[in-house]
Formats: sequence, structure tokens, C-alpha cells
Amino acid sequence: MKKIGVLTSGGDSPGMNAAIRAVVRAAIYNDLKVVGIKRGYEGLINGDIENMSLSSVADIIHRGGTMLRTARSEDFKTEKGFSKALNVINIFGIDGIVVIGGDGSFRGAEKLSQAGISTIGLPGTIDNDLAYTDYTIGFDTAINTVLNAISNIRDTSTSHGRANIIEVMGRHCGDIALYAGLAGGAESIIVPEEEFSIDEICKRLIQGRNRGKLHSIILLAEGVVKNSYEVASEIEEKTGIETKLTILGHIQRGGSPTAFDRILASRMAGKAVELILDNKSSRVIGIKGNEIIDMDISEALTIEKKLNQDIYRLAKVLSI
Ligand code: ATP
Repeated sequence: MKKIGVLTSGGDSPGMNAAIRAVVRAAIYNDLKVVGIKRGYEGLINGDIENMSLSSVADIIHRGGTMLRTARSEDFKTEKGFSKALNVINIFGIDGIVVIGGDGSFRGAEKLSQAGISTIGLPGTIDNDLAYTDYTIGFDTAINTVLNAISNIRDTSTSHGRANIIEVMGRHCGDIALYAGLAGGAESIIVPEEEFSIDEICKRLIQGRNRGKLHSIILLAEGVVKNSYEVASEIEEKTGIETKLTILGHIQRGGSPTAFDRILASRMAGKAVELILDNKSSRVIGIKGNEIIDMDISEALTIEKKLNQDIYRLAKVLSI
């Protein structure tokens, strides 16, 4: 009987548990043995591995975080650490590994597959920064978390007639700011992929105030400026409108996954097990136009992520 391992690696994201559950259940349904590898590649190196059963994944579909825990492993990137990992795979008789994580975790999976280990990757990251797929597991929950924050901040912003900058996650990819900004009716969306001008933002704020607008929300992705407090001060100085900054931080990484993320995670995990049963390796799973797809891992990692210009332009038009 084939034995597969499942691990979560890199930053956690809501829906990782739903993915683990679906990998375990689909595998057992198809007479595969499954082991859970704890704390990503770190647990792989250290043999921190346990057998998974149907009941090990009971009561987790609705929980944020990852029951297998996660880690970033510098050791795994070294030759010594990597060969330790290969040794452990051999000792435990693992025939293939499902890696749930972001692009870094996929590079680790790519390396494993180059060493002859079957690997399948599931995109688990709130950043939505993997170009080969329309959505990653956790992104939808994260933008809904941001949306709730926008609503709360807007209430108090309106009462006081303030402007608010909300800093969201996204060092290189502005998808969280863009999608949450569109859904939340933000006045300005600032993302790493696009130039921005403080004067332009100030102009919008002043025009809004002159039209009788009582609040303004500016969504700022974390990768754009070094110090968001300085941006808030500059806007306040230039417009005379009191401008507050809220940094949402890790609140965006937790929480019960939305229906969208649970369904996405379950569908992708089901596909991963199908590929394993077909003896496929070195593939990553994605979604394109509501179809679950798979692609060669190296090919997927070479596609450059770009901001969706249609959505960016539309958000600008609607926030006039
Ligand atoms: P997130 O999108 O949340 O940052 P990620 O999967 O991109 O998730 P990383 O910290 O970049 O997170 O990578 C997770 C782990 O994958 C690393 O700690 C390391 O163990 C492994 N990894 C990353 N890059 C490589 C690489 N080039 N070769 C081998 N392993 C790698």
C-alpha cells in the first residue's frame, strides 16, 4: 500500500486545515496510508511524523491555522538538512508528499521532486501571489477579515470626520489591498505594483470632503512604504484632515475559513490525491475559471504574478 505524507509550510493560512482533512480523507478512501509531517520541512528533517486516521482530522474544517503546525526551515535549504530529510522519507517509507504552502514551500517541493520524491503542491497562502492560479487557499478569508476591519473603522471614521489608512499584508503582491479595497469601497488603494502619489491621494480626500464626505479609507499594502505613520502624517499635514493609521498585521492570517476557502481547499486536495493515484509528481494544483487545474511545479514558479489591471482601474473609477 502506498504511503503519502502531508505537511504545511511557510506562513499559515485559513483553509490549510480543510486541505489537510481532505488530503487525509481522500487518501484513506482510496486505500492509501497517510502520515502527517509536523512543522513543515523542519519536522521532515527531524522525523516529527505521525500516522493520520479519519478521526485525526475530525472537527478541523472550520478552524484557522494548521493542526500540523508550520515553520520556516533554514536547515532544509542546506545540503546537510536536505539529505537528512531524504533519509527520513526513506526510513518512514513515504512514497509521496503533499506540500501545502506558498512559493518558498513549492521551491522546497521542487527540490524534493528533483531528488526523486513524488511531490504535489497546494497553494496555501493569504497573499494570492502565485500567478498560475486565480486564487490561493486563505486569500478569501483574509480579504473578508480586512473587509470587517474596514466596516468597523468606517463607523468611527464617519463619526469623527477622519481619514483612515489601513495597512494590510502584501509585500510584493497587492491583491489583498486591491480586492478588499474594491469590496470595501476604499477611496484609494496603494499597492506595490503601481506608482502612487500622495498629492493625488490628498486631492481625492479634499474633493471628497468638499462634496460632504464624512469618511475616507485608504488601503495600503505593507510593501509600499517603509513607514506608514509618515504617510499618515504627510496626508494630515497636506489636507488638514485628521488621518489615523491602523496596521492590521497577523489578524489577517487567522480566523475560521470562509465557505469559498473550505471548498477550494477540499477540491484542490481531492485533485492532489487523484494525481498521486495516477503516479503523477512535481505538480501544483490551482484554480482557473472555476476549474481545478494542475501544472508542472517549475513551470508554475516561473510565471510572473501581475496585478489585475481591470480590477485596479475599476476600483479607481468607482472611488471617484
Ligand atoms: P508564505 O507565502 O506564507 O511566505 P512560503 O511557502 O513562500 O509561504 P517561505 O518561508 O518562503 O514561505 O518558505 C517556506 C520554507 O520552504 C522555507 O523555510 C524553506 O524551508 C523552504 N524553502 C524555501 N525556498 C527554498 C529553496 N529555494 N530550496 C529549498 N527549500 C526552500
